[in-house]
Amino acid sequence: MEEIEEEFDCEVCWETSEESFGLDCGHRLCLGCYQAHAREKAHQHNEIPYCYEEDCKDRVIPPSKMKKLLSKNDFEKYEKLLT
Ligand SMILES: [Zn+2]
Ligand SMILES: [Zn+2]
Repeated sequence: MEEIEEEFDCEVCWETSEESFGLDCGHRLCLGCYQAHAREKAHQHNEIPYCYEEDCKDRVIPPSKMKKLLSKNDFEKYEKLLT
């Protein structure tokens, strides 16, 4: 299959999205899906959001990336969880 930078099929919602969120581990999903995942982890479970793949738990998303995804309150929570 050809790799196209701008468009890809999200592995979570199977929508073709132009806004992808690439993780350092190589996984990609659409921005909306990762945002939902990160918010749920930080906001509801008080857990550090990692990659959405269970096997990828040692991958911390850089705070600079996470800042764009979370609300101010959730990002502050995330920073506290990291320390
Ligand atoms: Zn998606
Ligand atoms: Zn991953």
